[in-house]
Parts: sequence; structure tokens; C-alpha cells
Amino acid sequence: MLRQVAEGVLIHESEFCQSNAVVVQGRAGVLLIDPGVQGHEMACLANDLSDSGQTVVAGFSTHPHWDHLLWHARLGSARRYGTARCAAIVRDRLSDAGAKARVAELIPPDIVEQVPLDLLGRITGLHAEMAQIPWDGPQVRIIEHQAHAPGHASLLIEERGVLIAGDMLSDVLIPMLDLNVADPIEDYLAALRLLEGAAGNVDVVVPGHGSIGGAVQVHARIGQDRAYVHALRDTHVLSDPRIGPSAKDGWEWVAGVHEGQLQRLARRSERDGTPG
Ligand SMILES: [Zn+2]
Repeated sequence: MLRQVAEGVLIHESEFCQSNAVVVQGRAGVLLIDPGVQGHEMACLANDLSDSGQTVVAGFSTHPHWDHLLWHARLGSARRYGTARCAAIVRDRLSDAGAKARVAELIPPDIVEQVPLDLLGRITGLHAEMAQIPWDGPQVRIIEHQAHAPGHASLLIEERGVLIAGDMLSDVLIPMLDLNVADPIEDYLAALRLLEGAAGNVDVVVPGHGSIGGAVQVHARIGQDRAYVHALRDTHVLSDPRIGPSAKDGWEWVAGVHEGQLQRLARRSERDGTPG
């Protein structure tokens, strides 16, 4: 079911990790961002669109993780985009014959049969200088940064007051850092500064996973994510409502992600602190 969150901007929620697909209405059809996860969910979205006489004229993936790179044949064959960096990584990771089997191993076993991988990651990279998604509809500004995943794009639809955060600014997921880069903490903080700079007139924040937030939540979530990253950096005792007894039902596993990040960061600083 499609739900309107701002004029001409609608959300379709997937069951897996409360993933949000975003539909933006344009002049000749819609832009579809991170379409969803299970086949029946994307088919449902395709039905909703065709019932209201709309076709998909462009697609976009916010970052190179499997749950943001899916597509369904019934959504049609519009061109799908990502940042140049995102597209290059996807091309590289999916280039060999065993790639899809590796991706399937990342998907929870209870839904893997329901996740169609045949159209996975068929995206065209947009040049780094390209500040907007090329399509005939409201301007969608690309805010590229390297938090969470390389070539990650958050998207700002200024005239509708909507910030599509990708996998940041969630009420249920903590910041999940890309720990394969030189300075994951600073990359994350830099991305939050970019989002803060863009959030001035935002009334609606759409996270990749979790609940849609209003104007107050945009800033509260930026603050909450920053506090989390600061606590990781400074090894502070952390009080974050997304971890521990205050976590929402079904999200208790996020505490395990937090423990994993702490351990990997500790190993990194041990390694970096060892002479020679
Ligand atoms: Zn995700």
C-alpha cells in the first residue's frame, strides 16, 4: 500500500527491516528509489502504480547494499541510477559467476526464496559532478557521502521538503559504519554535517529503514546519530534508545550490531597503535 508523506511523494514499506521504498511523482511517470525487498512487495507496488495509471520512468539506488539494489520485472525497464562510485562497486562485486550466490548468503534464510535477484544492481552511475537525478519531475538533489557505504547518496527534494536519508537517521537502526575505510568515524560525522546543512527546510525525513519523521525528528535524529558516533569514538558509556530494553519489538538484534562495531573499532585502534 502506498502512503503519501508529502505532496507527490509516497512510501511503500517492506516487511524486512521496515525498508522504505520511495515514489516521487513526475510529469510523465514516477521516480522509484530503493524499490523494496521481497518479490510480492515489489509486485504489490507495481500494482498500486498501474492501478493509478502511473509508470516508473526512472529508478535510483541509494547505496551498494543488496536490499537497496533490487528490482522487479513488473516495475518495467526504466533506467536505474546510483552515484558513479556506487555503480562501480556494484559492477565490481557482481562481475563474476558466483556473485549472486554470495549475495544470497547475506539475505536472511527465511526470506531468501522471496527475494528476486535476477535484476539486482543494474544501475547506471551518475557522474560525481551531477548534482541531481536526471528525470522529468521535482528536482532531486544528490548528497553524496561515504558514511555507511561507499558512494552513498542521500536525496533532497527541496520543493517538497523531503529528505530521503538512505541508511542513516533511523529511529530503529544505529549508525552502521563502513569499517573498511581509513576513517569511518570521520566519514560518518562528515556525512551528518552534510545532512544537517541540507535539512534547514525539511519537513519529512525518510530513512532507508524505520519510521518516517517530521521536521523536529530530522534534527533530533541527526543529533542522536552524532551522539552515537561520538560515543563510539570516545568509548563513552552509551545511552541510545535504539539499543537495550528501549529498543522496539523485533529490533533487539541492533544491540549485537553495536557490540560488533565496538569490537572491530577496538581491534583497529590496537592494530594502529602497535609500532611497526
Ligand atoms: Zn539497508
